[in-house]
Amino acid sequence: MKILIAEDDENSRVFLERALLSQGYDVVSAGNGIQALEKAIQASPDLIISDIMMPKMDGFELCRLVKLDERLRAIPFVFYTATFAEPQDKKLAMSLGASRFLIKPMEPDEFFKTIQKVIVNHQQSEQTEAERPVTGTAELDRMYAETLARKLEKKVSQLEDALGQLRANEERFRNTFEQAAVGIAHVALDGRFLRVNQKLADIVGYSREGLQEKTFQEITCPDDLDTDRAYVRQLLEHRLQTYSMEKRYIHKDEHLVWVNLTVSLVAATSPDPGYFIAVVEDITRRKQLEAQLFQAQKMEAIGQLAGGVAHDFNNILTGIIGFGTLMDMAMDKKDPQRQNLNHILAGAERAANLTKSLLAFSRKQVSNPLPVDLNEIITKIGKFIQPIIGEDIDLKITVSNDVLIVKADTGQIEQVLLNLATNARDAMTSGGLLTIETEPVLLDTDFMKAHGYGEAGEYARISVSDSGCGMDDTTLKRVFEPFFTTKGVGKGTGLGLSMVYGIIKQHNGFINVYSELGVGTKFTIYLPMTLSAIMEDASGEEELLEKRTATILVADDDPSVRELSEKVLGMVGITVITAEDGNDAVEKFLENKDTIDLVVLDIIMSKMNGKEVYEKAKEIRPDIKVVFISGYAADFMNNRGMLDEKLEFVEKPFNPRRLLKKIQEVLDKTN
Ligand code: ADP
Ligand code: MG
Repeated sequence: MKILIAEDDENSRVFLERALLSQGYDVVSAGNGIQALEKAIQASPDLIISDIMMPKMDGFELCRLVKLDERLRAIPFVFYTATFAEPQDKKLAMSLGASRFLIKPMEPDEFFKTIQKVIVNHQQSEQTEAERPVTGTAELDRMYAETLARKLEKKVSQLEDALGQLRANEERFRNTFEQAAVGIAHVALDGRFLRVNQKLADIVGYSREGLQEKTFQEITCPDDLDTDRAYVRQLLEHRLQTYSMEKRYIHKDEHLVWVNLTVSLVAATSPDPGYFIAVVEDITRRKQLEAQLFQAQKMEAIGQLAGGVAHDFNNILTGIIGFGTLMDMAMDKKDPQRQNLNHILAGAERAANLTKSLLAFSRKQVSNPLPVDLNEIITKIGKFIQPIIGEDIDLKITVSNDVLIVKADTGQIEQVLLNLATNARDAMTSGGLLTIETEPVLLDTDFMKAHGYGEAGEYARISVSDSGCGMDDTTLKRVFEPFFTTKGVGKGTGLGLSMVYGIIKQHNGFINVYSELGVGTKFTIYLPMTLSAIMEDASGEEELLEKRTATILVADDDPSVRELSEKVLGMVGITVITAEDGNDAVEKFLENKDTIDLVVLDIIMSKMNGKEVYEKAKEIRPDIKVVFISGYAADFMNNRGMLDEKLEFVEKPFNPRRLLKKIQEVLDKTN
């Protein structure tokens, strides 16, 4: 048995085909009335099952034509419909000569039974009159027209509903597109922006219309374009579903904005050639913070390294300078070797200055911060700056009217200004203007957030600007690195700015630099202001080295320091007891507890540190005097208490005279 199915909906058709095949029928299918009529003639089926609503020719018309055709008239015709389910529809169908009018959905069993029955009935009665159109053509036409009109009305109202829903949906999607917190664009396959949302336009600084005249290639940073294009190719070749990348767009103002871009391809459906959906998130801020963090970490790491090396170097230099000085003292004034020795000593002093710069950069230099008026420091140091920069460069110093009290080491701040001035001079080879200004500023949390450092509060701002050659970006990024210099061999050490950086950090301040090639450079320093206006003057005059009797315990694990101290102190008649580590120091102190007048302790020693030795000694002799030796501010940082107690210390590498002077000072102090 062969059945012809006329059904435009593919799902229903395939389903029906399978169902009938499973029941052992042969099946022929058509997607519309015209096709069905052709197939009916070709295949002469035993039964036609037809939908009603179909394109090109509907089921009613199909039925009418079948029943009018001599060749086909005998084939039983069954309507199977979901949409035309009213009594009038059935009436029209039956009038057209249909055998059955079935309404979807139907239980499969019942459906098959009915089909079977139609076929059997038909075979028994062969061609009956009932299967011809029963009504006159005019009547049929009227019924047909009526049915269609009703159907159309219904369809129109369904379409209107659907359209309403579509519009609501469209509205929702539009809002999602328009109001998204990320940029979204539909991009043509050639890169043109077809549609963009406001957010994307904002990110790159264009109006939406303006952006829609651009291609993504035009606004992508050239450095990122190749990567982006390679991804696009992979999308087009279906080797990728979607890709994400961090890239830079060129803002309308020509600066770069960092974004995170995610792109997927909407495949072509004819006649639409397809397009890309791009989602764009602005990550400029995150990138800035990352860069700042990276820079801070790099400086920290270099600082650690430099500080470590400098610390060991200091011990060596202490020996060289110390023994050299001893030789110098002992030598006959006319000794021909003295000149050589002085060269050695001068070299060692230069090396000591270098290590000092390194320690300053790594924030390990001992600093002695006191409340000072920054304006006073600057006014004083200004007098030294003019001769440094020479006559071709004008110096303009403008200090604020307010007193700017900061807790600072005067010597270090002077060093900062001298280093900046020296650099400015080098940048203004044919003259120019050096400006130094101070001003109190209140930095709020917004400022801190924008720059990624510091705590909000009152700061003293020092700006040092020059009208020199300026710097390019590569130089600018590296200026604070130790040993970074663009100056020729012998001209620059590359330590000036790293020293500045370290000192400012040590003062809990921060520094930034702005520079334009050929225009000039401006360094801006912020130092936190302290309210306390107590100022101390810590200057002392050189004292004569006179003979005296005293007993001193010197503890340092560096033998050259011990030996040196022994000799220097011995020269002025002081008895020296030496100890090589913390434990040894405590033992020696116990043995000589009644005779010792003062202890000289290295802060970092094996077994027990200087601070601990001092604590032990104090338990035994509360009045004991002490001088600490160190080149390592960190020691003090870790033992903040020591600074507060105003303890005395000598910095490494020390000149023997300085140690002697310090010891005398302390001995002379009455408790
Ligand atoms: P140095 O002066 O020994 O080279 P610095 O650490 O002081 O080392 O400076 C590092 C580099 O920074 C300099 O070599 C120079 O290229 C650049 N620089 C510093 N200050 C300025 C300035 N005011 N104008 C232009 N370039 C500068
Ligand atoms: Mg310099």
